[in-house]
Amino acid sequence: MMSSFVSIAIDGPAAAGKSTVAKIVAKKLGYVYIDTGAMYRAFTYAVIKAGLDPKNEEQACSLVGKVSIELTEDGCVLCNGEDVSKPIRGNEVSSNVSYIASYKTIRLELIKLQRELASHQNVVMDGRDIGSYVLPDAQVKVFQVASVETRAKRRYDENLAKGIQTSLEEVAENVRQRDYIDSHRDFDPLVKDKDAIELDTSNLNIEESAAAVLEIVAKKLGEKQ
Ligand code: C5P
Repeated sequence: MMSSFVSIAIDGPAAAGKSTVAKIVAKKLGYVYIDTGAMYRAFTYAVIKAGLDPKNEEQACSLVGKVSIELTEDGCVLCNGEDVSKPIRGNEVSSNVSYIASYKTIRLELIKLQRELASHQNVVMDGRDIGSYVLPDAQVKVFQVASVETRAKRRYDENLAKGIQTSLEEVAENVRQRDYIDSHRDFDPLVKDKDAIELDTSNLNIEESAAAVLEIVAKKLGEKQ
């Protein structure tokens, strides 16, 4: 049965500005924003903290069922009760998260949590596979893209503002590497869903990008009534 709640899926490659836009859209509509990338990042943090190798599938998957991940109302990410909002944005997690996200058992566990969250409230959910796999019945599906240069520069500026030390080249390399792994994994890769509307934000600022998404939402929800 289709849920009576509205789901807006915003997918796309790394650092395309999805989370910034999704947050604004959620706030405007009074929906709950769900950052699924933060869940994969928190799981990666737990694997590293436990002294396990993120590149070793068996080791990483041994934590399935043992990691509790929570996104709080005020935007914090809790991993087994610990606030990991800052460390999950650092280099160590960023350069390992795509390995963790390529393991099917881990994906299935996090996808279950994501579907549960969308089952009882209106959500704006951003990720890689929301429209294509997690919420295939989402009323609105946006696929947000931007050039690699734009994306790397945006993420670099974001990191600087958060006090995270990285070089622009390091960020660009991480973005390229994650896009490659995310779109080449066997199970549930990054793909543009057939129903998704592509939005290129290379030449749009944050406000313009959010306005473009809100326009798509208004049109799609209007069509469905
Ligand atoms: O969105 P963000 O860049 O923080 O996501 C971090 C990583 O988590 C991505 O590079 C990808 O490997 C993984 N991810 C995913 N599926 C999602 C969201 C994120 O595989 N729905």
